[in-house]
Amino acid sequence: MMEPRPSGENYQLIVRIARGEIIRGTDFSIEETLVALNDKILVAGAGGFIGGALVSLLRKQGYRDIRAVDVKPLDEWYQRFDDVENLSLDLNLKENCDIAAEGAAEIYNLAANMGGMGFIEHNKALCMLSVLINTHMLQAALKQGTVRRFFYASSACVYNGDKQTTFEAPSLKEEDAYPALAEDGYGWEKLFSERMCRHFREDFGLITRVARFHNVYGPWGTWFGGREKAPAAICRKVIEAKVSGKHEIEIWGSGVQTRSFMFIDDCTDGIQRITNSDILEPINLGSSEAVTINQLVDIAEDIAGIKLKRNYDLNAPKGVNGRNSDNTLIQKYLHWEPSTPLRVGLEKTYRWIFDQYMAREKGEAGVVREAGAGR
Ligand code: NAD
Repeated sequence: MMEPRPSGENYQLIVRIARGEIIRGTDFSIEETLVALNDKILVAGAGGFIGGALVSLLRKQGYRDIRAVDVKPLDEWYQRFDDVENLSLDLNLKENCDIAAEGAAEIYNLAANMGGMGFIEHNKALCMLSVLINTHMLQAALKQGTVRRFFYASSACVYNGDKQTTFEAPSLKEEDAYPALAEDGYGWEKLFSERMCRHFREDFGLITRVARFHNVYGPWGTWFGGREKAPAAICRKVIEAKVSGKHEIEIWGSGVQTRSFMFIDDCTDGIQRITNSDILEPINLGSSEAVTINQLVDIAEDIAGIKLKRNYDLNAPKGVNGRNSDNTLIQKYLHWEPSTPLRVGLEKTYRWIFDQYMAREKGEAGVVREAGAGR
C-alpha cells in the first residue's frame, strides 16, 4: 500500500536523499532541507545518549526551533543546550506527549527505558512499559496535524533468537524478525511499536520511519551505573585497571560472543537519512564489522597500552551468541552504511570516558560537557 506522498520538488528531494545523492545539512544548500530550518523539531529522549547527539547535530546544521524532551531532571541530561527548548516531561503520559508534539513538523522518538544486557534482562516489565511512550507519541503526532515525518528507534533485539545461536555472527536481514521470537521484554516492545508505526502510516497516513539500531557507542553515552553497554563498560574496566594498577578485567560471558558496534556519528547520520527516505519498512542501522567481545577488549587494551588478565563470568547476562547487521538493504536504498572503523570510534570513546573517569575521581559531578553546551 502506498502512503500519501509529498508532491513536486519536495518529493524529488526525498528521492535524492534516499539515493544518497545528497546528505541533509552537510553537502547541499541548507535551503533544500525537507524540514525548513525554522520548523519545529521534537527530539524525545533528548536527555539520553542518542537523543542528545541528535540535538547537537541538528543545532550544528542550523535548525533553530528544536524542542528537547526527557523524563530526567534537566541537570541529569548528558548534553543540554541553552538555545533549545528543554522540557522535563514523562512521555508515558498522553497529555505530556500532546505538550511535546505541539506544533512539531518532525518528531524523533528516541525515548525508552533501556540499558545494556544487564538492565534489559532484569527489567522486562519496565522495558515493555515504553510502549506507552511511542503509542501516545503517535497519537499526539496525528492529533497535531503538523507532523510531516515521525521517526521511531527500534533495535536489533527484535530479531528471532533462534537465528542468533551460533557464535559466527549471523548477519541479520530485516526479514529475520519473523516468525517473531524477539528478546524477551525489550525486544517484544520494540517489535510491537514498529508495527504500531506501520499501521499509523497505513491506516492514518502519518509518515513514519523505523530504524533497527545495532549497538551504538561513543562519547556522551552511559559508561557506568548498570545501564552501560559493552563498549563503554569495557573501556571503563580497562581504565579502572590502568589507573588502579590491578591488571585484571572481568568479562561477561565466554568472550567469544560476536557483535557489531556502530559509532554515534554514523547513527545520527543514518537516522536523518532514513527519516528523509522513502523506506517504508523497518531497516537495519548498524555496522557490519563484527567482532568478538575478546577482540573488543584487545582494541581497548591496545588504545590503553596495557595487557590484562581476563576473568570470564559465565553467569553474567550476555545476550545472544552472535549478531551482526546485514546491510544489503540499506546499501540498496541509500547507497550508504555506517562505516566508522571500530578502532577509530573506540579510541574517541575511550578518551572521553577517561576524561569522565578522571573528573569523577576528582569529585566533579556529572559528565564533562563540550564547549558551548549550555549549562
Ligand atoms: P538512553 O537511555 O541514553 O536514552 C533514552 C532516554 O529516554 C533517556 O534519557 C531516558 O531518560 C528517556 N526516557 C525514558 N523514559 C522516558 C519517559 N517516560 N519520558 C521521557 N523520556 C524518557 O538510550 P539511547 O542509547 O540514547 O537510546 C535511544 C533509543 O535508541 C531508545 O529507544 C533505545 O531503545 C534505542 N536503541 C539504542 C541502542 C543503543 O545501542 N544505544 C540500540 C538499539 C536501540
